[in-house]
Amino acid sequence: MRESVEQKGRRYLVEGRLVVDLVAGDEIRARCRGGGAVYELGLFNGGEWWCGCPARGRCAHLVALGLVTVARGAAGLHVTPDPEPVARARAGFE
Ligand SMILES: [Zn+2]
Repeated sequence: MRESVEQKGRRYLVEGRLVVDLVAGDEIRARCRGGGAVYELGLFNGGEWWCGCPARGRCAHLVALGLVTVARGAAGLHVTPDPEPVARARAGFE
C-alpha cells in the first residue's frame, strides 16, 4: 500500500520525528527525521517554506511541520513582541 505525502507527514508527527527548534516572528526552523536522515526545514521570512531533503515540492517533512504551525492567513504568523508588559514592569519599580 502506497503512503501519500500527507499520510507520511502525519506519521512523522505521531512518531515524534519532528522537532521545532525556533519560532521567531515570521521565521520557523525545524528538524525532521525520515528516510534514514535528519533534514532541516522551516519557513523563511514568513513567505517561503523550505526543506533540505532531496524531494521536490511539498515533502512529508513540510506536511508534518504544516500540521503544527498556523497556516499563513488573515492573522498569519505576525507575532510581534508586546512592549507594554515591560513598560508596566518598569513603572512598578519606580
Ligand atoms: Zn523534506
